[in-house]
Amino acid sequence: MKDDILNRLQFSLGKDADHASVYDWRMAVSLTVRDQMVDTWFNSTKEAYAASSKRVYYLSMEFLIGRLIEDMISNLQLEDTVRGALTDLGQDFDEIVHDEPDAALGNGGLGRLAACFMDSLATLGIPAFGYGIRYEHGLFEQSFAQGQQVERPETWLNQRHAWEFERPEVQFPICFGGHVDHHDGKTTWHPSEKVLATAYDTPVIGWKNEWGNTLRLWSAEPVSQFDLDSFNRGDYLAAGRSEALARTISRVLYPDDTTDSGKELRLKQEYFFTAASIQDLMRRYLQDHDDLRQLPEHVAIQLNDTHPAIAGPELVRVLVDEHGIDMAEAIPLARACLAYTNHTLLPEALEKWGEWLLGRILPRHLEIIRIIEETQQREHPGSPRILEHGDVRMGELAFIMAHKVNGVSALHTELVKETVFADLHRIHPTRIINQTNGITPRRWLYNCNPGLRDLITDAMGDGWVADLEQLTALKAKRDDAAFMQAFQASKRDNKAALSNWIGQTCGIALDPDAMFDVQIKRIHEYKRQLMNLLETVALWNDMRDNPDHDWTPRVKIFGGKAAPGYYMAKDIIRLINDVAEVINNDPATKGRLKIVYPPNYNVTMAERLIPASDLSEQISTAGKEASGTGNMKFALNGALTIGTLDGANVEIREHVGSENFFLFGLTAAEVMERRQHHGYARAAIEASPRLQRVLGQIAEGRFAPHDTGRYHGVVGMLYDHDYFLVTCDFDSYFDAQRRADNAYQNADNWAAMALMNTASMGWFSSDRTIKGYARDIWNAHPPRAAMDRSA
Ligand SMILES: *Cc1c(COP(=O)(O)O)cnc(C)c1O
Repeated sequence: MKDDILNRLQFSLGKDADHASVYDWRMAVSLTVRDQMVDTWFNSTKEAYAASSKRVYYLSMEFLIGRLIEDMISNLQLEDTVRGALTDLGQDFDEIVHDEPDAALGNGGLGRLAACFMDSLATLGIPAFGYGIRYEHGLFEQSFAQGQQVERPETWLNQRHAWEFERPEVQFPICFGGHVDHHDGKTTWHPSEKVLATAYDTPVIGWKNEWGNTLRLWSAEPVSQFDLDSFNRGDYLAAGRSEALARTISRVLYPDDTTDSGKELRLKQEYFFTAASIQDLMRRYLQDHDDLRQLPEHVAIQLNDTHPAIAGPELVRVLVDEHGIDMAEAIPLARACLAYTNHTLLPEALEKWGEWLLGRILPRHLEIIRIIEETQQREHPGSPRILEHGDVRMGELAFIMAHKVNGVSALHTELVKETVFADLHRIHPTRIINQTNGITPRRWLYNCNPGLRDLITDAMGDGWVADLEQLTALKAKRDDAAFMQAFQASKRDNKAALSNWIGQTCGIALDPDAMFDVQIKRIHEYKRQLMNLLETVALWNDMRDNPDHDWTPRVKIFGGKAAPGYYMAKDIIRLINDVAEVINNDPATKGRLKIVYPPNYNVTMAERLIPASDLSEQISTAGKEASGTGNMKFALNGALTIGTLDGANVEIREHVGSENFFLFGLTAAEVMERRQHHGYARAAIEASPRLQRVLGQIAEGRFAPHDTGRYHGVVGMLYDHDYFLVTCDFDSYFDAQRRADNAYQNADNWAAMALMNTASMGWFSSDRTIKGYARDIWNAHPPRAAMDRSA
């Protein structure tokens, strides 16, 4: 390993050890590790071909993968070797790991799910490709200026990306615009714009280096670097047109989280990566098959949300226009390959495109969508429409072109059946199924929490890493005093390490014995960071009123970004920072209450915070969080949840036991009912003196003394609409927090509850989720029977 690293340093980086920077060392290590995966990767491809396996194609607009170096090293079981080699070379392993920039090619949960799924597919040995976009700029970098969010472009590709292989030979033309000709039964699309999609492959190697799949990200390039003819004619703009389009398509990730951004470029991005992926999988299929009617036996295409929903019409177009299959046959054939995952019930997040816009960019696809619509109406008169009020509704399109539609938690799936797709569900009663989300235990325990990982492995071996339900054996350890002491110590160590980091980065000193109460996720009204903050102010008031009470010291930690155009979310960020400024400087609550909000929440920060958390805030308005996966990461790492009956919280609570979970708030049914009552927010505020006082303080400018009107909008929103029922759940939330305070006072009992969480979370491994998709949706199997742990 040492020689390999030095060779790489010399011959790939052109540096000698004396002059190498951290970056040089990191690249040398990464390339050395990458070399070691290539055999597994090639062999997996060969085996999948030899067995003529069905392949899974996971189409996702986002892959929030974060850093890869630790994942790669641990899945290859090279941790000790690499550490040892670097020590011998006088280098610091951790410094090198921390030098890798996060690949932030996603906004939040949806993109992180795709990344966890890639890890599980490889670990389970299921032949699969992840397909997405190689954005030049991932999710923006967040900083705070006077408490307000500032966005700057993210630049992960300023340095070479160590893990990818450029595939200049894997390149497909992607067309836009123009018009369609119908002649003698033959249809021809004459596009007006064209770019090329070039593949960049990152190998994804599963646990213990047994199987490797590919994450294939597409980058846009101009058709010809430069149109010399146009240039010589003096048409300088035309000469650069394809270049300009190509440069924009894969340039930025849309930072909109959950809202339909309705931008032409966004539609082009969606079509760009979907069409490239379909050309790629068709080429692979036709290499060793000639009967397209067998396509569904070899190809499973999963649509992660509606962003790639154009895959339906695109696959039909390829089958009909390029391979001469009848339309009537092509539609069911495409459907048998396609499945769709729904991620949200929020109406503003359901994608729609104006018919005129879609028809201008993809004229042939609009024709095909009309035929799909007619076919659906003929077969199921009165079916909900794809085309309505001049819009193309992508949810309906995805549903109608999928043989299975899945929700992402038990509650969410029932709500999908009852609300967004109620009418389609009546027509297709077996199409909607549930697959509760999961997280990969490799990243979210094994790598991010070495203390707890080693404790568990010492107690039971490492079988749990690929079979997480083995953790139930830990339940017996709750009466083992030595184990419980070590369990508590590992949490204490993680909290001390986090305190150091917060001290360095935020300049705030924390007490590692205080309760670390953490809410990290996108800032969104339905996630109710505002309710958490109001509770913090109420607690502060109570602490000041009763200074002699035996208060449980708390550290409130927030993390998360707001979409740049989401003004209410940005006001909430500013309010958190303003309140922190006042409370953190109040001598009356010193040592008892602190608020920290480290900027630029991302995967790496999650890996740092979650192992150091005592309390996990999962407090969304019931019925609004489809699943959540942050909730799973915390519980697995031994944090207790304070939460509503929403998304996967419901199932987490069933698994960990209601006595190990702080439940509060209205249920989804009660939320819907409460919204019918006119003036519910005002009534709730008037019934809660504690909440009234907090809102009064904020409205008076207690936290913005030089700009007292700053939060009138926020307070007014709570009085007048409060669509997410912060006011209605406030008292119940406050009470649950006091139950948590009391429980924390008994450290041994708290630790036992935490252990019950870790021990009960095995079912939430994304390995279990992927087995469910493979069985119920894809009918996909590992070609290597020995790896078929699902048998
Ligand atoms: C897991 C994760 C999320 C999703 O968190 P939720 O609490 O489920 O919304 C978002 N961002 C990052 C960086 C994550 O790691």
